[in-house]
Amino acid sequence: MYICIFFCIFAPNNKNYLPMTTQELNQAFEQVYGRKTEKMFFAPGRVNLIGEHTDYNGGCVFPCALNFGAWLLLAKNADKVLRFRSLNMDEVYEIAINAIKPQPNRAWCNYALGCIDIIARRHPEAKLESGYDILYYGNVPAGAGLSSSAAMEVVTARAFTEEMMKGLVDEWMSGLEGDKAYRTELALIGQACEHEYAGVMCGVMDQFASAQGKKDHAIYLNCDTLEFEHVPVKLNGIKVVITNTHSPHHLDSGAYNDRVRQCQTAVEQISRVKPIKFLAELSPEDWAEVEIAITDPIAKKRARHVVGEVARTAEAVEALKQGKIELFGKLMTASHVSLRDDYEVTGKELDSLAQAAWQVDGVLGSRMTGGGFGGCTVSLVRDEAIENFKAFVGAEYEKATGLKADFYVAEIGDGVARLA
Ligand code: ADP
Ligand code: MG
Repeated sequence: MYICIFFCIFAPNNKNYLPMTTQELNQAFEQVYGRKTEKMFFAPGRVNLIGEHTDYNGGCVFPCALNFGAWLLLAKNADKVLRFRSLNMDEVYEIAINAIKPQPNRAWCNYALGCIDIIARRHPEAKLESGYDILYYGNVPAGAGLSSSAAMEVVTARAFTEEMMKGLVDEWMSGLEGDKAYRTELALIGQACEHEYAGVMCGVMDQFASAQGKKDHAIYLNCDTLEFEHVPVKLNGIKVVITNTHSPHHLDSGAYNDRVRQCQTAVEQISRVKPIKFLAELSPEDWAEVEIAITDPIAKKRARHVVGEVARTAEAVEALKQGKIELFGKLMTASHVSLRDDYEVTGKELDSLAQAAWQVDGVLGSRMTGGGFGGCTVSLVRDEAIENFKAFVGAEYEKATGLKADFYVAEIGDGVARLA
């Protein structure tokens, strides 16, 4: 067995999340490995527009893929080793192809190794027959809740399903249904990697959005059944603006597990009067009848959020289909209020950002996105209001928290693809 981990101070480094052209990426690969790239792939990060904390309650989410994400460049080597480098990281890893297993100390290569391992386990016909020199670059800020990890997993799953079982991938990708099934499989490989190699027991939304994303569309996804629909997002003169709290607070697994348990309590208590498996089965009308059955006041608040959010998400999707973007924005804001008051996963930083955003003329709606406490908000902002939005929200946020926010004007991009 041959495993070697070392640090390289000569590798080119880009930790500022600056855009890079494919030509610059190819040059970086040549500089790092002294040879030419053979293939290049890209997978996006994602933002959830509405439908928060609904996934594990049997409800739908509504994420879209972003136009920033993770690139993977590779070339086969003759050494039977996987060499991993990232322009975002100092650590360099070299792992023998017959010694793939999780690496200690939260090694970033786990997000790649896990996918390669899981491809082989899910598909007995898949074979890793050669070594590879591999280079990553990501321009999704890591740890901000925009799923840099899912982008990295999905881009790896895309590249290595092709390398390890090419014929099958060609067959899969030959028709529309095959392509959809293939992308769902990439998402499931990424999710399994996140569970087993990163220890994060996430739902499938992030990897699904990265794999199935479509330019100018969001994905109305039931995370339980994996049924989904691409819904056009026509944003004439409006932008999706993501604001990063840079807050050290995150939804930790304790707070997350508490919410899951409280929802289960609500399901159990409601089931005494109306048997249900998931809170998402309840319409607001059902809720009016059954809420009295929940004796635990915290569980009642949590359930009220879930039932409201599931209905809001359905209404928001319908609003978009009818071109009612103002209504969509209002529902985003209502989602934040519910996450703040009933689900209690916002916190000072996210609330300060949303509160400030709601005051700006030209903002259609603004809400926290992702698990909560830290991470980002997502806002719909008219083009002419964006500069004012950044200045006002940035200043108010700094006043309230002492922290500086970052703003990303995002476009809704396509899912994972081979670029070259
Ligand atoms: P998020 O997915 O919200 O951005 P995570 O903590 O789930 O945050 O994932 C971030 C981790 O993913 C990083 O610490 C790193 O290990 C890995 N990662 C993400 N992007 C890259 C990259 N471009 N190069 C190397 N590792 C990356
Ligand atoms: Mg992640």
